[in-house]
Amino acid sequence: MLRVLLVEDNEMNRDMLTRRLEKRGYSILVAMDGAQGLAAAQQLQPALILMDMSLPIMDGWEATRRLKNDSATRHTPVIGLSSHAMAADRERALQAGCDDYDTKPIDLERLIAKIEQCLAAHAIAS
Ligand SMILES: [Mg+2]
Repeated sequence: MLRVLLVEDNEMNRDMLTRRLEKRGYSILVAMDGAQGLAAAQQLQPALILMDMSLPIMDGWEATRRLKNDSATRHTPVIGLSSHAMAADRERALQAGCDDYDTKPIDLERLIAKIEQCLAAHAIAS
């Protein structure tokens, strides 16, 4: 089963997205802030990371930058998530190293399409 790390500080969003993705066959690991997300990514080596950008302790931009600067996690695809649909936010997430970006509220089919696309691109690259 594919292990996806979900880094999300909002409990309701975290629980809802976990449940919906588990129903679709993904195994979900959770972290509640950027520092915890970074540690979980390094220790658990998930296949992909869903990273909320607005997080306490360490935000998603910083956590993603660190993941992409670490040889142990550099190749793990990261999809940035935020409630901002503005092009500048997407640009900022991609510049931090996110492989893709999606906006909340989550459209599950759209998100799953992005997850599958990232995993396929990663499989080709490695
Ligand atoms: Mg948040």
